[in-house]
Amino acid sequence: MVYPELPHDVNSPTHPVSAMDYMPVEPLRALQLHRLQWTVKYAYERVPLFRKRCDERGVRPEHVKTLADIKLLPFSKKVDLRDEYPMGLRGAPMDEIVRFHCSSGTTGKPICIPNTMQDIEVWKNGAMRCLTMYGIRAGDVIQVAYGYGLFTGGLGLHYGGEGLGCAVLPISGGNTERQIMLMRDLGVTAIAATPSYFLRIMDEAKKQGVDFRRDTKLRHGIFGAEPWTDEMRETIERETGIIAHDIYGLTEIAGPGVAGACPHRTGLHIWEDHFYPEIIDPDTLEPLPDGELGELVFTTISRCGTPMIRYRTRDLTRLHTEKCPCGRTMRVMDRVSARSDDMLIIHGVNVFPGQIEAGLLRVPEVAPHYQIVLESTDTLDRFEIKVEVTPEAFSDDIRHLEDLRKRVLDAVKSIIGLTPKISLVEPNTLPRSEGKIKRVIDNRRK
Ligand SMILES: [Zn+2]
Repeated sequence: MVYPELPHDVNSPTHPVSAMDYMPVEPLRALQLHRLQWTVKYAYERVPLFRKRCDERGVRPEHVKTLADIKLLPFSKKVDLRDEYPMGLRGAPMDEIVRFHCSSGTTGKPICIPNTMQDIEVWKNGAMRCLTMYGIRAGDVIQVAYGYGLFTGGLGLHYGGEGLGCAVLPISGGNTERQIMLMRDLGVTAIAATPSYFLRIMDEAKKQGVDFRRDTKLRHGIFGAEPWTDEMRETIERETGIIAHDIYGLTEIAGPGVAGACPHRTGLHIWEDHFYPEIIDPDTLEPLPDGELGELVFTTISRCGTPMIRYRTRDLTRLHTEKCPCGRTMRVMDRVSARSDDMLIIHGVNVFPGQIEAGLLRVPEVAPHYQIVLESTDTLDRFEIKVEVTPEAFSDDIRHLEDLRKRVLDAVKSIIGLTPKISLVEPNTLPRSEGKIKRVIDNRRK
């Protein structure tokens, strides 16, 4: 079997900084086209659902003559993976599959992604390039506090870290007291976790009297797997002194390491030599030009186990073509602070939880722990935001709290244009998470 050629040099631990990151745009586009054509042909020959959809549209692999021709191809969605569960979208034969990853849905069957060894290498390559970009090197100690197992978070950073020659601590999520102990005892310099789990670790450190700056060597946080905001990043950096890096990925496309933010914070560089991005209008499904906000769509162009073509991620973002000062030529996307699935319609207005988070965290006395509660009533639905006050700002002074409550309301209202009920709650009373957090409780009648 002929696979598209891979830049083997960058997979070598002795040459961890990827030359591909800086590839001039013209040859990059040529490489993408070559790999796209290869992938389309490969999937057409091996994945019956893809072939059927192409045939229905009268599209054949040879019709893809330019990158723009990608718009001729059918989209794929999570529901396809569910309908074809467990392995209907598998491209490679079973004797080439080395690992499965699954992600659970909130309802029904999970999705299952068979990976070949090459897929694992491509994914590891993406994670290594992200870590390198963050400034992480051999000698760093990485505490991987993402969940290990069917979820891709843990193993993605694990292989990426080992590939660079870092010392990896595969602790997974949970047992937060031990997280702090090992972080100190082993001189951990980087931690990978969901932002919400790192908040839980910050709480535990505070409880134990551990100051990150004074008592640990932690310098880097690698955060992803759930939407978060600039305000959350500022809060984490201010309180711990670490650099909070963004990492992006999804099981359907690979795992963490599809894209990451460089130190210039222009957005997240996408490893376009493996993952071809598009932005579409989620209503008309038409491609949007770079710079416009829409739904992120990925085509894997060097994966074989489960080749995904025009996969709709449901993540809302923009692509940018402006040159990044870091010199990388790979396009950047804005941090994903919203998923179209997360959009709430409250009193007829579209609201994203990230907008509420941004408003809340602009008030310094507010802790980064909140819950959005929606309930049906006979008249207007009840819309409440419960938010913790920092221990320093918490007091029994009713007037002080009332003033704070008004400021929180103004901050949220200025962003979403609605007037929720704001309930200030005592420190450490809202639920914490050891993985992905659920911040929206929507009990409205559907
Ligand atoms: Zn950059």
